[in-house]
Amino acid sequence: LPPYAPAPGPSSGPDGGSAVQGASLDARRISAWFGDRKVLDRVSLAMPAGRVTALIGPSGCGKSTFLRILNRMHELVPGAALAGEVLLDGEDVYAPGRRLTEARRQIGMVFQKPNPFPAMSIYDNVTAGLRLTGLRMSASDRDALVEECLTKAGLWREVRDRLRQPGGALSGGQQQRLCIARSVAIRPKVLLMDEPCSALDPTSTRRIEETIRELAHEVTIVIVTHNMQQAARVSDQCAFFLAEQGTPGLIVEHGSTERMFHSPTDTRTADYVGGRF
Ligand code: ADP
Ligand code: MG
Repeated sequence: LPPYAPAPGPSSGPDGGSAVQGASLDARRISAWFGDRKVLDRVSLAMPAGRVTALIGPSGCGKSTFLRILNRMHELVPGAALAGEVLLDGEDVYAPGRRLTEARRQIGMVFQKPNPFPAMSIYDNVTAGLRLTGLRMSASDRDALVEECLTKAGLWREVRDRLRQPGGALSGGQQQRLCIARSVAIRPKVLLMDEPCSALDPTSTRRIEETIRELAHEVTIVIVTHNMQQAARVSDQCAFFLAEQGTPGLIVEHGSTERMFHSPTDTRTADYVGGRF
Protein backbone atom coordinates (compact mmCIF):
# COMPACT_ATOMS: atom_id res chain seq x y z
CA LEU A 1 0.00 0.00 0.00
CA PRO A 2 1.22 3.52 -0.64
CA PRO A 3 2.22 5.46 2.46
CA TYR A 4 -0.92 7.07 3.75
CA ALA A 5 -0.61 10.57 5.10
CA PRO A 6 -3.90 11.74 6.56
CA ALA A 7 -4.94 14.80 4.61
CA PRO A 8 -5.36 17.94 6.70
CA GLY A 9 -8.98 18.45 7.66
CA PRO A 10 -11.24 21.07 6.15
CA SER A 11 -10.84 24.64 7.32
CA SER A 12 -13.79 24.47 9.62
CA GLY A 13 -15.53 22.06 11.82
CA PRO A 14 -18.14 21.78 14.50
CA ASP A 15 -15.51 23.03 16.96
CA GLY A 16 -15.32 26.46 15.39
CA GLY A 17 -13.34 28.13 12.66
CA SER A 18 -14.66 29.66 9.50
CA ALA A 19 -17.69 28.21 7.77
CA VAL A 20 -17.16 25.59 5.09
CA GLN A 21 -17.09 27.20 1.68
CA GLY A 22 -17.69 25.64 -1.69
CA ALA A 23 -20.85 23.75 -2.44
CA SER A 24 -21.88 20.15 -2.11
CA LEU A 25 -22.22 18.26 -5.35
CA ASP A 26 -24.52 15.26 -5.43
CA ALA A 27 -24.57 12.99 -8.49
CA ARG A 28 -27.57 10.65 -8.52
CA ARG A 29 -27.93 7.59 -10.70
CA ILE A 30 -25.85 8.96 -13.55
CA SER A 31 -25.87 6.86 -16.72
CA ALA A 32 -24.07 7.95 -19.87
CA TRP A 33 -23.95 6.84 -23.48
CA PHE A 34 -21.84 7.58 -26.53
CA GLY A 35 -24.18 6.60 -29.34
CA ASP A 36 -25.48 3.12 -28.51
CA ARG A 37 -22.67 2.40 -26.12
CA LYS A 38 -23.42 2.79 -22.43
CA VAL A 39 -20.30 3.87 -20.55
CA LEU A 40 -21.66 4.69 -17.07
CA ASP A 41 -24.36 2.79 -15.24
CA ARG A 42 -26.31 4.50 -12.45
CA VAL A 43 -23.37 6.07 -10.68
CA SER A 44 -24.25 7.91 -7.48
CA LEU A 45 -21.74 9.89 -5.48
CA ALA A 46 -22.04 12.67 -2.90
CA MET A 47 -19.15 15.11 -2.93
CA PRO A 48 -19.30 17.17 0.28
CA ALA A 49 -18.61 20.91 0.41
CA GLY A 50 -15.04 21.91 1.11
CA ARG A 51 -13.65 18.38 0.71
CA VAL A 52 -11.43 16.72 -1.88
CA THR A 53 -12.93 13.70 -3.63
CA ALA A 54 -10.59 11.52 -5.72
CA LEU A 55 -11.96 9.44 -8.60
CA ILE A 56 -9.70 6.45 -9.13
CA GLY A 57 -9.80 3.41 -11.40
CA PRO A 58 -8.32 1.98 -14.61
CA SER A 59 -8.41 3.82 -17.95
CA GLY A 60 -11.66 3.71 -19.85
CA CYS A 61 -13.99 3.19 -16.88
CA GLY A 62 -15.73 6.54 -17.29
CA LYS A 63 -14.02 8.84 -14.80
CA SER A 64 -13.55 11.69 -17.28
CA THR A 65 -17.06 11.23 -18.62
CA PHE A 66 -18.45 11.42 -15.08
CA LEU A 67 -16.41 14.58 -14.40
CA ARG A 68 -17.64 16.21 -17.61
CA ILE A 69 -21.24 15.41 -16.73
CA LEU A 70 -20.80 17.31 -13.46
CA ASN A 71 -20.32 20.61 -15.30
CA ARG A 72 -22.39 19.90 -18.38
CA MET A 73 -19.60 19.33 -20.86
CA HIS A 74 -20.77 15.83 -21.80
CA GLU A 75 -23.87 17.15 -23.54
CA LEU A 76 -21.68 19.00 -26.05
CA VAL A 77 -20.31 15.73 -27.48
CA PRO A 78 -22.25 14.75 -30.62
CA GLY A 79 -24.26 11.56 -30.01
CA ALA A 80 -23.74 11.69 -26.25
CA ALA A 81 -26.67 11.12 -23.90
CA LEU A 82 -27.15 10.93 -20.18
CA ALA A 83 -29.64 10.16 -17.45
CA GLY A 84 -29.67 11.04 -13.78
CA GLU A 85 -29.33 14.18 -11.71
CA VAL A 86 -26.55 16.48 -10.58
CA LEU A 87 -27.38 18.66 -7.58
CA LEU A 88 -25.23 21.65 -6.65
CA ASP A 89 -26.14 22.60 -3.08
CA GLY A 90 -29.43 20.84 -3.75
CA GLU A 91 -30.18 22.61 -7.02
CA ASP A 92 -30.41 20.62 -10.24
CA VAL A 93 -27.58 21.66 -12.56
CA TYR A 94 -29.66 20.26 -15.45
CA ALA A 95 -32.94 21.94 -14.51
CA PRO A 96 -34.80 23.21 -17.59
CA GLY A 97 -34.12 26.89 -18.05
CA ARG A 98 -30.88 26.80 -16.09
CA ARG A 99 -28.19 28.28 -18.28
CA LEU A 100 -25.09 26.37 -19.29
CA THR A 101 -22.88 29.37 -18.47
CA GLU A 102 -24.22 29.38 -14.93
CA ALA A 103 -23.06 25.81 -14.35
CA ARG A 104 -19.68 26.64 -15.86
CA ARG A 105 -19.22 29.68 -13.66
CA GLN A 106 -19.93 27.70 -10.53
CA ILE A 107 -18.08 24.55 -11.50
CA GLY A 108 -14.59 25.12 -12.91
CA MET A 109 -12.40 22.59 -14.68
CA VAL A 110 -8.65 22.01 -14.92
CA PHE A 111 -7.44 19.56 -17.56
CA GLN A 112 -4.56 17.11 -17.84
CA LYS A 113 -2.70 19.21 -20.38
CA PRO A 114 -2.17 22.78 -19.16
CA ASN A 115 -4.13 25.04 -21.51
CA PRO A 116 -3.39 28.70 -20.75
CA PHE A 117 -3.89 31.16 -23.61
CA PRO A 118 -0.24 30.99 -24.71
CA ALA A 119 0.05 34.39 -26.40
CA MET A 120 -1.91 36.20 -23.72
CA SER A 121 -0.05 37.74 -20.78
CA ILE A 122 0.06 35.97 -17.43
CA TYR A 123 -2.06 38.79 -16.00
CA ASP A 124 -4.67 38.55 -18.74
CA ASN A 125 -4.81 34.77 -18.43
CA VAL A 126 -5.90 35.12 -14.81
CA THR A 127 -8.62 37.63 -15.67
CA ALA A 128 -9.73 35.88 -18.88
CA GLY A 129 -12.63 34.12 -17.21
CA LEU A 130 -13.89 37.38 -15.73
CA ARG A 131 -14.24 38.89 -19.17
CA LEU A 132 -16.01 35.81 -20.45
CA THR A 133 -18.50 35.89 -17.61
CA GLY A 134 -19.07 39.64 -17.98
CA LEU A 135 -17.98 40.55 -14.45
CA ARG A 136 -16.73 44.14 -14.24
CA MET A 137 -14.32 45.55 -11.68
CA SER A 138 -11.94 48.47 -11.18
CA ALA A 139 -8.28 48.22 -12.24
CA SER A 140 -7.07 48.15 -8.64
CA ASP A 141 -9.57 45.45 -7.68
CA ARG A 142 -8.43 43.48 -10.70
CA ASP A 143 -4.77 43.84 -9.67
CA ALA A 144 -5.65 42.61 -6.19
CA LEU A 145 -7.57 39.67 -7.59
CA VAL A 146 -4.68 38.66 -9.87
CA GLU A 147 -2.30 38.69 -6.91
CA GLU A 148 -4.77 36.76 -4.75
CA CYS A 149 -5.39 34.06 -7.35
CA LEU A 150 -1.75 33.63 -8.31
CA THR A 151 -0.92 33.38 -4.59
CA LYS A 152 -3.56 30.71 -4.11
CA ALA A 153 -2.13 28.80 -7.06
CA GLY A 154 1.36 29.05 -5.53
CA LEU A 155 2.68 31.06 -8.47
CA TRP A 156 2.76 34.68 -7.31
CA ARG A 157 6.36 34.89 -6.14
CA GLU A 158 7.62 33.34 -9.37
CA VAL A 159 5.73 35.65 -11.72
CA ARG A 160 5.08 38.91 -9.84
CA ASP A 161 7.81 40.69 -11.83
CA ARG A 162 6.76 39.31 -15.22
CA LEU A 163 2.99 39.58 -15.31
CA ARG A 164 3.08 41.03 -18.84
CA GLN A 165 4.98 38.07 -20.27
CA PRO A 166 3.00 35.52 -22.25
CA GLY A 167 1.50 32.55 -20.40
CA GLY A 168 3.10 30.25 -22.95
CA ALA A 169 6.58 31.27 -21.74
CA LEU A 170 6.06 29.50 -18.41
CA SER A 171 7.14 25.93 -17.62
CA GLY A 172 4.53 23.16 -17.77
CA GLY A 173 4.02 23.12 -14.02
CA GLN A 174 3.75 26.91 -13.91
CA GLN A 175 1.25 26.84 -16.78
CA GLN A 176 -0.90 24.38 -14.86
CA ARG A 177 -0.80 26.65 -11.79
CA LEU A 178 -1.74 29.56 -14.05
CA CYS A 179 -4.76 27.54 -15.22
CA ILE A 180 -5.71 26.95 -11.59
CA ALA A 181 -5.40 30.70 -10.92
CA ARG A 182 -7.61 31.41 -13.95
CA SER A 183 -10.19 28.93 -12.70
CA VAL A 184 -10.38 30.29 -9.16
CA ALA A 185 -10.60 33.91 -10.40
CA ILE A 186 -14.26 33.46 -11.22
CA ARG A 187 -14.80 32.10 -7.68
CA PRO A 188 -16.25 28.73 -8.52
CA LYS A 189 -17.94 26.67 -5.85
CA VAL A 190 -16.48 23.45 -7.24
CA LEU A 191 -13.23 22.75 -9.06
CA LEU A 192 -12.98 19.62 -11.21
CA MET A 193 -9.49 18.39 -12.08
CA ASP A 194 -8.88 15.65 -14.64
CA GLU A 195 -5.42 14.16 -14.02
CA PRO A 196 -3.97 17.66 -13.48
CA CYS A 197 -0.46 16.38 -12.75
CA SER A 198 -0.11 13.59 -15.32
CA ALA A 199 1.92 15.80 -17.66
CA LEU A 200 4.09 17.25 -14.89
CA ASP A 201 7.37 16.42 -13.13
CA PRO A 202 7.36 15.30 -9.47
CA THR A 203 8.30 18.69 -8.06
CA SER A 204 5.53 20.48 -9.96
CA THR A 205 3.18 17.70 -8.93
CA ARG A 206 3.91 18.27 -5.25
CA ARG A 207 3.40 22.02 -5.64
CA ILE A 208 0.00 21.40 -7.19
CA GLU A 209 -0.93 18.94 -4.46
CA GLU A 210 -0.15 21.62 -1.86
CA THR A 211 -2.30 24.04 -3.82
CA ILE A 212 -5.17 21.55 -3.90
CA ARG A 213 -5.11 21.17 -0.11
CA GLU A 214 -5.07 24.96 0.29
CA LEU A 215 -7.93 25.46 -2.16
CA ALA A 216 -10.02 22.84 -0.38
CA HIS A 217 -10.59 25.44 2.32
CA GLU A 218 -12.75 27.45 -0.05
CA VAL A 219 -13.86 25.24 -2.90
CA THR A 220 -15.08 21.66 -3.29
CA ILE A 221 -12.59 19.64 -5.33
CA VAL A 222 -13.10 16.53 -7.44
CA ILE A 223 -9.88 15.12 -8.90
CA VAL A 224 -9.27 12.21 -11.24
CA THR A 225 -5.88 10.64 -10.63
CA HIS A 226 -4.03 7.47 -11.59
CA ASN A 227 -1.46 8.15 -8.90
CA MET A 228 -2.48 6.29 -5.74
CA GLN A 229 0.06 8.14 -3.60
CA GLN A 230 -1.48 11.35 -4.84
CA ALA A 231 -5.01 10.17 -4.03
CA ALA A 232 -3.80 9.25 -0.54
CA ARG A 233 -2.06 12.60 -0.06
CA VAL A 234 -4.73 14.99 -1.29
CA SER A 235 -8.17 13.43 -0.90
CA ASP A 236 -10.64 13.12 1.94
CA GLN A 237 -12.69 10.48 0.15
CA CYS A 238 -12.18 8.20 -2.85
CA ALA A 239 -14.51 6.56 -5.34
CA PHE A 240 -13.22 3.50 -7.19
CA PHE A 241 -14.58 3.23 -10.74
CA LEU A 242 -14.44 0.01 -12.74
CA ALA A 243 -15.77 -1.21 -16.09
CA GLU A 244 -15.47 -4.98 -16.30
CA GLN A 245 -15.45 -6.92 -19.56
CA GLY A 246 -17.22 -4.45 -21.76
CA THR A 247 -19.83 -3.52 -19.15
CA PRO A 248 -20.46 0.16 -18.40
CA GLY A 249 -18.40 1.85 -15.70
CA LEU A 250 -19.72 1.95 -12.17
CA ILE A 251 -18.48 2.74 -8.69
CA VAL A 252 -17.38 -0.48 -7.01
CA GLU A 253 -16.72 1.19 -3.67
CA HIS A 254 -16.32 4.62 -2.16
CA GLY A 255 -15.51 5.94 1.27
CA SER A 256 -13.02 7.90 3.31
CA THR A 257 -9.55 7.80 1.82
CA GLU A 258 -8.20 6.25 4.99
CA ARG A 259 -10.69 3.39 4.86
CA MET A 260 -10.34 2.87 1.11
CA PHE A 261 -6.58 2.46 1.48
CA HIS A 262 -6.45 0.55 4.78
CA SER A 263 -9.61 -1.54 4.89
CA PRO A 264 -11.40 -1.69 1.54
CA THR A 265 -14.35 -4.08 1.58
CA ASP A 266 -14.07 -5.19 -2.06
CA THR A 267 -11.05 -7.26 -3.11
CA ARG A 268 -10.95 -5.39 -6.43
CA THR A 269 -10.48 -2.11 -4.55
CA ALA A 270 -7.72 -3.66 -2.47
CA ASP A 271 -6.01 -4.93 -5.62
CA TYR A 272 -6.29 -1.58 -7.35
CA VAL A 273 -5.09 0.66 -4.53
CA GLY A 274 -2.36 -1.88 -3.83
CA GLY A 275 -1.11 -1.59 -7.42
CA ARG A 276 -2.05 -5.15 -8.42
CA PHE A 277 -4.18 -4.21 -11.45
P1 ADP B 1 -11.52 7.31 -18.13
O1 ADP B 1 -11.46 8.78 -17.91
O2 ADP B 1 -11.88 6.54 -16.88
O3 ADP B 1 -10.28 6.76 -18.75
P2 ADP B 1 -13.49 7.96 -20.17
O4 ADP B 1 -14.60 8.64 -19.45
O5 ADP B 1 -12.55 8.81 -20.91
O6 ADP B 1 -12.71 6.99 -19.14
O7 ADP B 1 -14.11 6.93 -21.18
C1 ADP B 1 -15.13 6.01 -20.84
C2 ADP B 1 -15.51 5.22 -22.09
O8 ADP B 1 -16.16 6.11 -22.99
C3 ADP B 1 -14.32 4.65 -22.80
O9 ADP B 1 -14.67 3.39 -23.29
C4 ADP B 1 -14.08 5.61 -23.94
O10 ADP B 1 -13.54 4.95 -25.05
C5 ADP B 1 -15.48 6.12 -24.24
N1 ADP B 1 -15.46 7.51 -24.74
C6 ADP B 1 -14.92 8.58 -24.10
N2 ADP B 1 -15.09 9.70 -24.81
C7 ADP B 1 -15.76 9.35 -25.92
C8 ADP B 1 -16.25 10.05 -27.09
N3 ADP B 1 -16.09 11.38 -27.21
N4 ADP B 1 -16.88 9.34 -28.04
C9 ADP B 1 -17.06 7.99 -27.90
N5 ADP B 1 -16.63 7.27 -26.87
C10 ADP B 1 -15.99 7.93 -25.89
MG1 MG C 1 -9.91 10.11 -18.25
